[in-house]
Amino acid sequence: MPVLKHRCVTRKVGADHPLAGKTVYIPDMAEGSVEALCAVLRWMGIGALPTPHPDEHTLELGGKYTSGDECFPAKITIGDLLKIAQRPGFDAKHTVFFMATADGPCRFGQYAPFLRKILREQGYGDVQVFSPHGEHGYSDFQDFDHAFVRTAWRGVVAADILRKLLLQTRPYETQPGASDRAYRESVDDLCQTLEQSCSDTACQMRSVRASLLRARDRFYAVPARYDCSRPLIGIVGEIFCRLNTFSNRDLVRRLEAQGAECWMSDIAEWIGYTNVEELRNLRLAGRAYSWDMLKSKLRSRIQHADEHSLRSLFVKDFTGYEEPSVEEVLKLAHPYLPFPGAEGEMVMNMGRSVYLARRGADGIVDMSPFTCMNGVVSEAIYPKLSRDYGGIPIRNFYFDGQQSDLDRDIAIYLELARSYREGKSYKRSYPARFSRQEERVASVVRRK
Ligand code: SF4
Repeated sequence: MPVLKHRCVTRKVGADHPLAGKTVYIPDMAEGSVEALCAVLRWMGIGALPTPHPDEHTLELGGKYTSGDECFPAKITIGDLLKIAQRPGFDAKHTVFFMATADGPCRFGQYAPFLRKILREQGYGDVQVFSPHGEHGYSDFQDFDHAFVRTAWRGVVAADILRKLLLQTRPYETQPGASDRAYRESVDDLCQTLEQSCSDTACQMRSVRASLLRARDRFYAVPARYDCSRPLIGIVGEIFCRLNTFSNRDLVRRLEAQGAECWMSDIAEWIGYTNVEELRNLRLAGRAYSWDMLKSKLRSRIQHADEHSLRSLFVKDFTGYEEPSVEEVLKLAHPYLPFPGAEGEMVMNMGRSVYLARRGADGIVDMSPFTCMNGVVSEAIYPKLSRDYGGIPIRNFYFDGQQSDLDRDIAIYLELARSYREGKSYKRSYPARFSRQEERVASVVRRK
């Protein structure tokens, strides 16, 4: 019999913590994922909210304080954060803006310093900018312990799973809006679960798994008709643009409306990539046998175990949609963009595209901000990849807030995907719900 009886206790930071008594605003990059991250901060006793969903005012404000040379996500995030700053009664001293950062070849590393500069110039210099760095797998949440990093990771993976359920169900729903409702309820359920979860890691994992099982039941209850005639389109590209539906003008929903199903790269994949980068950088710095190396390896190992525990609930549901490991993606990218000579999202997009082609996808869409260097480099290499995979159609869609006839472009693209589908050599595997549907249809026909 245990001497100490387990009690569920949530974590709280002390009153001397730099974020105590403040509200952290996180740019609404991806519905569900950002809410989950905010819930984890609240679990720590820190006020946290996603910025409201971007709108035309976001573009207006973002445009006013940027020159046009910046990347589109910079304009959106700056616009969204300034909307908060311009609210009546805004309290700069008790506000923190979250802006992740990274080194590397692209402009992402400039977002946080640029935001600080604008805030200073506009008289909001008291606002603290909180900027975890990709070099450490975003694990350097100052003054937080590993419990936060672990819970945040669980939140990110769980939110990725919910998005996957949404994208796999919505194209087949027979009651419009039912999948979106199931998704919304599931995100709220997950956030509540995380916010109230226990500090004991095993107990917390049980509650997150239970929340995901409730989500699965909600999606099972969505009236749907699964048929194999929809082309499967893999979605890759710049992380913000592919996830932020305002930035990409809801491209996934538009693809679905024209008959496609989409399979999008997860956020967890990117964090996994930054972990691999961290290990490589430590080796390059001659610190292969250092304390940091040990910490990093341990963190990766724990994250893999947690991810496996959450994803294992969906083995049957995700048959044919299995996620590759980061190592596998990098290996697949090698003939096109060899890592580590090439780094970042372009490498992941390349490897992921090969993976998708081999899993029987009927086409690949790369969503990137206009002038994004990852998008531009990838676009130059996609024709070769497409030739190597029987002419799989790969299309870059660039976004900069301007209007264009997106639906017309999608219609043309999907025609290419449908004709590729007829002769492709890599066939898809389908989860059981597709055959169950066929059985259901067959039994209805027999009864008639
Ligand atoms: S990935 Fe592209 S859009 Fe994002 S910061 Fe880098 S260059 Fe800009």
